[in-house]
Amino acid sequence: MTTPFADAQARYDELAALGLTLNLQRGQPSDADFALSDGLLSAVTPGTTTQDGLDLRNYPGGVAGLPAARALFGRYLGLDAANTVVWNNSSLELQGLVLGFALLHGVRSSRGGWVHERPRMVVTTPGYDRHFDLLSTLGFELVAVAMQPDGPDVAAIAAAASDPRVKGVLFVPTYANPGGETISPEQAARLASIEAAAPDFTIFADDAYRAHHLGEPVETVDLVGLCAAAGRPDRAFVFGSTSKITYAGAGLGFVGSSVDNIAWLTRYLAAQSIGPNKVEQARHVRFLEDCPGGLEGLMRAHAALIAPKFAVVDEVLGAELGLDGSYATWTTPRGGYFSSLFTTAPVASRVVELAKAAGVSLTPAGATYPGGHDPENRNIRIAPTRPPLDEVRTAMRVAAACVRLATEEHRAGPA
Ligand code: PLP
Repeated sequence: MTTPFADAQARYDELAALGLTLNLQRGQPSDADFALSDGLLSAVTPGTTTQDGLDLRNYPGGVAGLPAARALFGRYLGLDAANTVVWNNSSLELQGLVLGFALLHGVRSSRGGWVHERPRMVVTTPGYDRHFDLLSTLGFELVAVAMQPDGPDVAAIAAAASDPRVKGVLFVPTYANPGGETISPEQAARLASIEAAAPDFTIFADDAYRAHHLGEPVETVDLVGLCAAAGRPDRAFVFGSTSKITYAGAGLGFVGSSVDNIAWLTRYLAAQSIGPNKVEQARHVRFLEDCPGGLEGLMRAHAALIAPKFAVVDEVLGAELGLDGSYATWTTPRGGYFSSLFTTAPVASRVVELAKAAGVSLTPAGATYPGGHDPENRNIRIAPTRPPLDEVRTAMRVAAACVRLATEEHRAGPA
């Protein structure tokens, strides 16, 4: 007579015997996504090196970015050009710069640099490992709150903010990494108006996936406007980049905030740079404005490539693990780059280990928690965007087989 354990072992052995080499770990666009933006490569040519009356090849232009780029990415964030700085190739770098300036000098409402106050920062879990690493590397102590279906647990953030060492929160407001959750307008308004013990409590919103809808768009929030409406105009910085719009790591990072915060930021940026790369900014403006349907049209073309991959993740998990939660539950994001799987038993690290032995790389278990430690050993980030659709299907079958086997091993207890 066969048992669930024997069935799970047989299914795993069958898939492991295929000798696969597949990767579901990388939150990267596919080559087909990149191909949509290859027009970038010819958007600046000899003879077209002037934009906004500025020579792209020379220094003058200002530290906040090309006017046309500020207008375009300001619009993207729901803000004016005057509220926007467009910088170089990475929003993470820009987050690091803003946090670094806050540590050294404080933000506008600070008495001095945060570094002197042994600062703490709220993060959401499960969350983005590079946020944890950035903050820890800069010396922040992390305070974890849960990410919920309607965004961060704002009540928990408010409780944490009764500690004056808590200087703010860093989170992803739209289609979060890894679960795909989006903050609701109600939660965003509550966050904008929480009472914090630190007078300079700041919201750092990494809106990396603001336009990355897979179908019907969710309602995105304007945290800068909400903070202004709550009487705290300088409370929010909102970041974004073109890494998942055009080329990953070879595009533009940008930030939106109050006009006074933009002056605060550009004062420090100007001390270390004469200005960002205007050639990159001009070619992004030209390419995105000329795309069929503009930036939104480009995002719809990405969605046509990416949405079927998310549908396959959902379909394979449902077919292989059932929908009753006996093995796992998972998120079904409406946008972004990731979904999040929770094993029912505390076996995430064993799932990743079994998958590796069967030739499928998954994001290391624990990566979605500060210090790389998932206290419940249950969360696994799924990143289906980079591999072709058939590989996503095969890799998800392996992942599901690993969840079943690891769970049955756990139920059977130590051998
Ligand atoms: N922020 C989030 C939430 C991400 O998921 C990623 C990439 O996966 C990044 C930022 C990286 O952005 P950039 O390439 O602009 O530094």
